[in-house]
Amino acid sequence: MAETFPSEDTVRLRVGGFEPLTTVDWEGRLSAVVFLQGCPWRCRYCHNAELAALTAPGMRPWAEIRQLLEARVGFLDAVIFSGGEPTIQSDLPHAAEQVAELGFEVALHTNGFDPNALSAVLTTGAIDFVALDIKAPFEDYELITQVPRSGDGARRSLRVVLDSGIAHELRTTYHPALLSADHLRQIARELAEAGAERWIIQLFRPQGCPVRWLRESIALPAHVSAELRAELSALLGEVEVRGTE
Ligand code: SF4
Repeated sequence: MAETFPSEDTVRLRVGGFEPLTTVDWEGRLSAVVFLQGCPWRCRYCHNAELAALTAPGMRPWAEIRQLLEARVGFLDAVIFSGGEPTIQSDLPHAAEQVAELGFEVALHTNGFDPNALSAVLTTGAIDFVALDIKAPFEDYELITQVPRSGDGARRSLRVVLDSGIAHELRTTYHPALLSADHLRQIARELAEAGAERWIIQLFRPQGCPVRWLRESIALPAHVSAELRAELSALLGEVEVRGTE
């Protein structure tokens, strides 16, 4: 039986924010970013804590965002679904299809908490690029997310991303008071075992972090030494460190 899709007006997304134009979130592209409301985790360094609840004042209906995007056809290259955690919203696959049908490239930023939800959106064929957070070694996710066993789903989501064949990035935010060099080594081993060949370490940015002790930690600034970077590259392959050192 043919699958039926919701009509344009029945797609429901809780949109907590909209960035109409960015040149830095997807290299080489003029992009808009749709920030979706809701996240099941409470990462200690979260810069988007206001998006964590499933509802919040000021949310905008998807139909309004879709109209804004329609008006930018021919001007923008791409649309990025970010959050919060976009895959927590069950209509995300349909919204991604609508955006792709407008002719945009589509990217997804996800923490991978739910591999089934992630698979549902990746198998639409609408997603051109996926950025998956790798919070910590999978057994230690709670150190960051404050949710027990949260690495279990993330481990399966890594498999989903690698098996999808979709262009991707695996990204870890590094704060030296939250993750040690041994944690980084363990992440590199786990990614290598899964078959990944490239990993992005994003140095923690104090700006915008709501947690004072993390902003003011004596462990800052975050830094990955040349020796450690070489060690991680030997374990995994390409390791890129982003942010100021
Ligand atoms: S997964 Fe992202 S949005 Fe959710 S709490 Fe962590 S940093 Fe914040």
